[in-house]
Amino acid sequence: MRYRLATIAVLGIAAWLLPYQLNSYAMHVVNVMLLYAILAVGLGLAMGVAGQINLAQVAFFGVGAYATAVLTVKAGMGFWTAAVLAVIATAAVGLVVGTPALRVQSHYLGIVTLGLALAFTNWVTNSHLAGGAEGIPGIPGPTLPGVDLSDGYLYYYLELVLFAVTLAFGLFVVHTSLGRRMRAMRDDSLAAGAVGVEVPTLRMTAFLLASVYGGVAGVLYSGLIGYVAPETFSIANMFLLLAMVIIGGRQSLVGCVVGAIGLALIRELLIDYPTYAQVAYGSVVVLTVVFAPTGLAGLPRRLGSVAARLGWRGRGGETAGALGAFHPYDVTPPAAGDATAMLEVRNLSMHFRGVKALTDVSVTVPARQVRGIVGPNGSGKTTLFNVISGFYRPTDGRVILDGRDVTAARPYALAHAGIARTFQNLRLFSALTVRDNVLVALDPTRARSTWRYLLLPLGVWRRDNALRREADSLLDRFGLVAFADNQPSALPYGIQRRVEIARAMAARPRLLLLDEPAAGLNGDEVRQLCDIVRSIRDSGVTVVVIEHNMGMVMSLCDHVTVFAHGAIIADGPPAHVAAAPEVIEAYLGESMAMPAPTVSEAQR
Ligand code: ADP
Ligand code: MG
Repeated sequence: MRYRLATIAVLGIAAWLLPYQLNSYAMHVVNVMLLYAILAVGLGLAMGVAGQINLAQVAFFGVGAYATAVLTVKAGMGFWTAAVLAVIATAAVGLVVGTPALRVQSHYLGIVTLGLALAFTNWVTNSHLAGGAEGIPGIPGPTLPGVDLSDGYLYYYLELVLFAVTLAFGLFVVHTSLGRRMRAMRDDSLAAGAVGVEVPTLRMTAFLLASVYGGVAGVLYSGLIGYVAPETFSIANMFLLLAMVIIGGRQSLVGCVVGAIGLALIRELLIDYPTYAQVAYGSVVVLTVVFAPTGLAGLPRRLGSVAARLGWRGRGGETAGALGAFHPYDVTPPAAGDATAMLEVRNLSMHFRGVKALTDVSVTVPARQVRGIVGPNGSGKTTLFNVISGFYRPTDGRVILDGRDVTAARPYALAHAGIARTFQNLRLFSALTVRDNVLVALDPTRARSTWRYLLLPLGVWRRDNALRREADSLLDRFGLVAFADNQPSALPYGIQRRVEIARAMAARPRLLLLDEPAAGLNGDEVRQLCDIVRSIRDSGVTVVVIEHNMGMVMSLCDHVTVFAHGAIIADGPPAHVAAAPEVIEAYLGESMAMPAPTVSEAQR
């Protein structure tokens, strides 16, 4: 921390003293560089942090610049009034561009945003209002009492302050609730939805953020150059911006800044060789994508892991200790309302074109039960979970949670309603630490309270600290404290499974769906898992568990439902079901005999 503060102080002083070393041409180059840095931070937030392909950043830049030009030159407003209106206008455009993000997936978003960027340059080139191909000259620069901002040296300080504020805000977003949810969405948007992240709104927020950065840079550009023309906002410049972000390191805002400054410098050096410049940027981008996908910002870590592989240094990703014991939840006595069914699935069918994954399935799970779901592979168990948790819209039938019809609600809405789940093939957020994985689910912040970032940043910060403490106590309960700062992929499989259960429980569910939680665990780990699930049940949560490990099903479940070919073939207490002839036949059909329960297991 102290080291970091010192670095910031040194950089700040160096930036403050920089103009004393430069001639006025060099000062101008630096001023342009700072604009690109602001643009790159905005693009980094949308693309690197939130994972939304945004090729309209240069159009946001253009809207900010042109709005300032039109409002000052054509409407006769003062610079600062025009500046505020221009940023608001850009944010509005950002929302419009972000609207398709509510519906379409990332790859299509690239095409949509590219189309919008092209449409923008086309429009300004042909519009009378925007001055056509000649653009709009004569934009008055900003004024401040007692400071002459028409001077490039003093304008630098205005830019520097705005750059510092926007970068600090970006870093603040990345390291708190909003950024964490965005990173989770980037890593795995399905899993993010399942823990309550409002994915569509969050995607739109990413565009909104990017557009505000574009607007600020656009306003500063108008004030600096005093002239706007279409070619500044061309696709070629969008490509340059993209190159800055990719080369610098998309996932690190500081990396984006380094990329922007570096490439803006190179562009200046190559200004007399425009043909070669494009080829040079292109080659560097390709080399970066191939050899350093995380950009310059990711290099130290990559070099570290190479060094580890060569035996120069200890391997990265070491953990601070071993898996701890699970501390059971407090037991809550059954309440009056517990008599009702927590989950009711009525006549559910799910067909994928030809495949009938589920046909007319009805299941009722009373509150505080551990319900086992067993059946051969491909019998529709996971599909049932996917329908209940809102990933699939059923072909027919209803899902009722605690008396409320929740059929085909969005996954995040179901998470808010009290459904949490794990996945058959683990879906942890791979680029987030274990603590952050848990924090995303723990965080009750809704997209509608994003305005707090603007008006109550201190409140956001305090809340985040409180959430961190809560996350640490949950990690302690699950014996995962030693791995809090590790990325999940560095951990043994059994620990990842436990992290996934901790993450599901962080969302404080009423209904927990576990999809083959014992797959890949050893005997000891399976026993610990059973203790955890029992404790979760005793705390008042209803659990539905899909499992192949029959020993575990027999000892853990209060009631078992057996699936075959998308339908229920048996339903009842474990011992009863295990003896049913249909069940034995279904399992023999799969050439996988169902082991009979031992007496001790059946009685437990
Ligand atoms: P289980 O979890 O019991 O092993 P699943 O629910 O994963 O089985 O799959 C049941 C059937 O539905 C399988 O035949 C599978 O191929 C099919 N299925 C599941 N999801 C899809 C999908 N998204 N598209 C097409 N078929 C699917
Ligand atoms: Mg499955």
